[in-house]
Amino acid sequence: MARYTGASCRICRRESGKLFLKGDRCYGAKCSFERRQAGPGMHGQRRSKPSEYALMLREKQKVKRSYGLQEKQFRALFEKAERQKGVTGGNLLILLERRLDNVVYRLGFAGSLTQARQLVRHGHIQVNERKVDIPSYLVKAGDLVGLFPKSREKSVILDALESSGRRGIPPWLEMNRETFTGTVKELPQRDILPATVNEQLIVELYSK
Ligand code: SF4
Repeated sequence: MARYTGASCRICRRESGKLFLKGDRCYGAKCSFERRQAGPGMHGQRRSKPSEYALMLREKQKVKRSYGLQEKQFRALFEKAERQKGVTGGNLLILLERRLDNVVYRLGFAGSLTQARQLVRHGHIQVNERKVDIPSYLVKAGDLVGLFPKSREKSVILDALESSGRRGIPPWLEMNRETFTGTVKELPQRDILPATVNEQLIVELYSK
């Protein structure tokens, strides 16, 4: 399926929640969802009681879209989560968090996940002092994620770092602003990831 190129805020309204797709704007009064929460389109106001299937589908779409993935990528990650030991839904969320583009965003090098993906693809990011330009790369405990020296002067990165304080850095990562590097202290566990996600619905959807 083709990548969605429409308005990001429309996706939040479609999924009935803030997915934080536009960086700084999402944390301020300019967030469109704060002003208008009805679904997009002519019939957005009319929301009938969703079916069981619709609930599962919407949960999957919400998570998939908040990480900016396409169905094929999301499904592949789900299958990887299924092959791992433990609870599939929790494994899936942990795999999503471990993606390099997500780590770059969480460390504050980028203002949004889309921007983080671009930084990775354009070769600004190194892992353990080696260039990694694959957004889906999965970080491991102990990895050192940083910027190349020439990238440390880019205004887009400095601006993102400046405003990243609002989001805070998750406890499984540690940032060193002096060296423009972040360390993966440990892999995230399900209990420190957003409680608003019901990953079991995604597991049920894919098991149908
Ligand atoms: Fe969603 Fe608000 Fe960010 Fe728009 S500004 S993407 S509605 S969280």
